[in-house]
Amino acid sequence: MGSKMETIPSFTVDHLKLKSGLFVARKDRIGDAVVTTFDLRLKRPYHDPVMDTGSVHALEHICATYLRNDPLWGERVIYFGPMGCRTGFYLIMAGDLTSEDVLPLVERTFDFASDFEGEIPGATPKECGFCVDMDLELAKADAAMYYNILISPKKENLHYPVKKPRKPKLSKEEQNKGGEDD
Ligand SMILES: [Zn+2]
Repeated sequence: MGSKMETIPSFTVDHLKLKSGLFVARKDRIGDAVVTTFDLRLKRPYHDPVMDTGSVHALEHICATYLRNDPLWGERVIYFGPMGCRTGFYLIMAGDLTSEDVLPLVERTFDFASDFEGEIPGATPKECGFCVDMDLELAKADAAMYYNILISPKKENLHYPVKKPRKPKLSKEEQNKGGEDD
């Protein structure tokens, strides 16, 4: 936690190269505080079928409730909600955070959702705008698929694809070696 703040221009991300995973979409400074927006990408864009609206909606209710009740991170959760493209969710957290910081939280959230039984929280006409559009079975399947990616993530599942390959930084040893060869 508390790593050096950097600008993450999420709008430059090539969605054709994006994999499923948990990414830092952006960081915003509000006064002295930093807020981190995470891209919880369940479906690989233009590769996997997008989520059904009933799954998105059920997951929104189940995961938002779980996240806000998490004893460790609950108070830092500002917002959790779906992307309009139905390939994932946004999670907004107070603090200057990395994907690795919140990976255990997101893991247990989707583990919880994948095994969820009973009444979906907030799924009544009084509490929700269209509570009939929920599909628990599809939600559980989507949650299980995402959980399986998160439990053994590769670099490509935690960091956005880099647009231009960066020049590799030479270590001091390598720099010295180069000098000797000349
Ligand atoms: Zn709702």
